[in-house]
Formats: sequence, C-alpha cells, structure tokens
Amino acid sequence: MPTDRLYLKDSYLKECEAIIENISDNKVILDRTIIHPHASGLVSDQGVIIYNNEELNIIDAIDDRENDNVIHILDKKPTFNVNEKVKIVINWNRRYKLMRMHTASHIIAALAYKKFNAMITGGEITEEYARDDYNINLSGDALKNAFSDIIKEANNIAKKAIEVKIYNMKKEEALKIEGIVKLLEREPPKSEIWRIVEIPGVDIQADGGPHVNNTSEIGDIELVKIENKGKDKKRVYFKVI
Ligand SMILES: [Zn+2]
Repeated sequence: MPTDRLYLKDSYLKECEAIIENISDNKVILDRTIIHPHASGLVSDQGVIIYNNEELNIIDAIDDRENDNVIHILDKKPTFNVNEKVKIVINWNRRYKLMRMHTASHIIAALAYKKFNAMITGGEITEEYARDDYNINLSGDALKNAFSDIIKEANNIAKKAIEVKIYNMKKEEALKIEGIVKLLEREPPKSEIWRIVEIPGVDIQADGGPHVNNTSEIGDIELVKIENKGKDKKRVYFKVI
C-alpha cells in the first residue's frame, strides 16, 4: 500500500498515529506519515517515532517512488513489530523553517523567471539556507544587483500576506498553465492528478512539498551570496530570518 502522505493535505500537522507496515533493519514504512522525505534538493524532515514510551529518532526519510512509500530511517533498530501502532512527532522548528524557505524560493524563482526568463537548473533547501541555480545570462555586479533587487521585491511580496493555495488538478489541465513546467521534476511522473501550489498573482507550480499558508509567515528573506558556477549555474544562496 502506498504511504498516506498527510503533509500533502496539511503541512501544519505536528504529530500523528500510524501503523507499522514494514521493517527492514532501521528502515521503517508506516501506513501514513507527516514526515516529508528528501526530494529534489529539499532535505528530509526529522522527528521521533514513539512506541511504549521509547523514542526513536527519525534521522532521514527517503521517497520510494517505485512503490509510492516514504521510508523512515531511524538511528537504531526498532523494538516494535509490523502492525503495531506508534506515534510520529515531527521536529517542527526544522520543518517550519523549511516551509518558510521553500515558499520564499517560489517567489524568488517566479521573479527571476518574469524579469530575466531565468529557469532553475538545480537547488537545495536546508534548515540553514536555500540555494537555487539559475541559467541567467548575467555576471559580476549586474548579477549581484539583479538578485539584490529580486530579494527586495520578494520581501515586499511576502509582506503582502498572500494566501498560498493548494489544490489538485488533472495533469492535462495543469500542462496548459504557462510556467508550470519549470519545476516539473518535483512531481511524481506516474501521477495523473497534480498537486498545485499557487501564490496568486506571483507563482504557480506543480509541487509535492510543504509550504506556509500565508506569505507573511516567511519573515525576512536575506541574500547570503552568489557564486558564478558557469553559464547555466549562477548559484544564489539565501536564508529567512
Ligand atoms: Zn514548492
């Protein structure tokens, strides 16, 4: 059975109960989870699985796309068995930071696309910083100024307190939306129904990740540094504070 990914419907769930479906050494699959796995540059959530007052740390989670399961990696071999009930508690501080950073990256990417037709060629979102690689044809001060302006504008947009909308759409309908394909790799290819994340008037993406409900939750976005890694790789680091 595919894992029921509760975070797709509600990114704010901090704990849930779940049934153990499979155990292999320190790798555990549950019937449902609030833990978002490592996917497309976004680091995995962390948390604990609680069983009989024992807490086991979830140090990583892998997206098993083949079977549509989330594999939770624990710091040690569990004592529980298949079919037993456990509780999952997420490391909320980490998750919330990732949600804020991730939503900020949507606004920045949308602005880079609108102003410079720049597409993302790679990226990483961690608890400390986020970075996106852009195929933007600028360098030196021009590049620096471009992204200083984009971050300034992104902060203004965030402060407008725009509600982030999440809904499902048929693949054939979604493909008609301009700009929706720029992060397509983040969507499970087999899926006929796509999860759409829309910041109205700013950005629309097919996206399976957790985001904040309102852009005002992002806080202040700060440009950290820019590295010129070649023609298609202007690496922009930022963080939220
Ligand atoms: Zn996203």
